[in-house]
Amino acid sequence: MNKKAVYIIMLGPPGAGKGTQAEVLAERMGLVHVSSGDLFRENLSKETELGKLAQTFMSKGELVPDDVTIAMVKDRLTRPDCEKGAVLDGFPRTPAQAEALKVMLSSLGGDVTIVPFINVPDEVLVERLSGRWMSKSGRVYHAITNPPLEKWFDDVDDSPLYQREDDKPETVRNRIQVYYKQTSPLIEYYKEQGKLIEIDGTQDIDKVTEDLMKAVGK
Ligand code: AMP
Repeated sequence: MNKKAVYIIMLGPPGAGKGTQAEVLAERMGLVHVSSGDLFRENLSKETELGKLAQTFMSKGELVPDDVTIAMVKDRLTRPDCEKGAVLDGFPRTPAQAEALKVMLSSLGGDVTIVPFINVPDEVLVERLSGRWMSKSGRVYHAITNPPLEKWFDDVDDSPLYQREDDKPETVRNRIQVYYKQTSPLIEYYKEQGKLIEIDGTQDIDKVTEDLMKAVGK
């Protein structure tokens, strides 16, 4: 019989390090890293209808409506490479998305196993996001705390790095507010299910990874 698929949800405010850690965790666990933000950005660069719609919300730091977000993630999770499960980063972000995910996963024969909640205080988030540099392949750098070997190119594939439009301080502040209003209720939701593990996201990247690996039992 097939082993049950494993789904891990990275929870935390924007800039907590979810993407960085999800990338490492997925690689070490042989799972796929599924980032809803990356999926929207892919659509944006391909200029799809979904991308154009998402852009109107993303540029303001608002959430894209649940129905389109849920449909996009569902499409991704039902692809063959997600058969063993996934590390979800940026999804779910609302209680409605969490409920939809539950239904989705049960039809895929899996469930959310663990929800690492990477906690970082607000004042650190703005500083982190304004120094952030991204690679098209999903790796994340920081001008001061995690610079690339060569400015500004990816260490692995040498592609040019870019700064996100929505990492501007005023948009970042709105993204943090949106997080508290719409996403933070999920902390309680997964705590009640006994799935939440809080991790101190202010530590060095490697120490956060170490705590995360312990949390998932590796
Ligand atoms: P992220 O890369 O996770 O910071 O996401 C960037 C932006 O994409 C967010 O600020 C939202 O506008 C949008 N987005 C990403 N994930 C979701 C989601 N689960 N629900 C709604 N909007 C999302």
